[in-house]
Amino acid sequence: MYYSIAIDGPAGAGKSTIAKEIAKKIGFIYVDTGAMYRAIALYFIREGIDGQERERISEECSRIRVTLDYNEEGKQQVYLNDENVTPFIRTEEVGKMASATAAIPAVRAALLDLQREMARTSNVLMDGRDIGTHVLPDASLKIYLTASSAVRARRRYDELRERGETCDFYQIEQDIIQRDQADMNRAIAPLRQAEDAVYIDSSDMGIDEVVSAVIAEYNKVILPE
Ligand code: C5P
Repeated sequence: MYYSIAIDGPAGAGKSTIAKEIAKKIGFIYVDTGAMYRAIALYFIREGIDGQERERISEECSRIRVTLDYNEEGKQQVYLNDENVTPFIRTEEVGKMASATAAIPAVRAALLDLQREMARTSNVLMDGRDIGTHVLPDASLKIYLTASSAVRARRRYDELRERGETCDFYQIEQDIIQRDQADMNRAIAPLRQAEDAVYIDSSDMGIDEVVSAVIAEYNKVILPE
């Protein structure tokens, strides 16, 4: 039997930073499901498809194959029709397209089996928006990680500045609020806290504090061998 940990929450809550660190500590495979939605979004951008063309997007899904692999450092690599697209998916453009197209049932269906299959065959720590509510409703541990929009925008702003990109704090915060609204109000698999998820607001917490809080929950529900 394998264990699974679901971490859901809005954009910029720090899910991937926290999840990567915890997965390493406890020896679970980290599955970043946002990267899968981003890979599909990249396909639509490259094909010149508009995010609102729902019918065309649904048709195109049969031509798209997203797979995951892990490099020698254990870092997740995402493949789009056998091309490693990991370096191309972390842009605002791809993030916005991912949010728009993730609301389309065919897009979600294209990824669901792969996500569930990974949890059937290994101990996984999976992050996303609908992992605890939809993908892995029987996850051994569920965490809902959030932070205020101002704090999330500040983290994103600092990250972009560090990469040498020029950006506008106000615009970043508006984008984050808009993305929250799209993710929380879509008809299919919206972002919301699962009833049995542990709620963590990281607005005033450092990375180590959040990691310790999740590990404490892990120790409560998953007996170490
Ligand atoms: O987490 P990340 O920002 O990489 O996700 C990009 C977009 O993919 C999100 O805004 C969300 O709309 C979508 N997504 C989703 N379900 C998931 C993971 C991501 O709908 N499990």
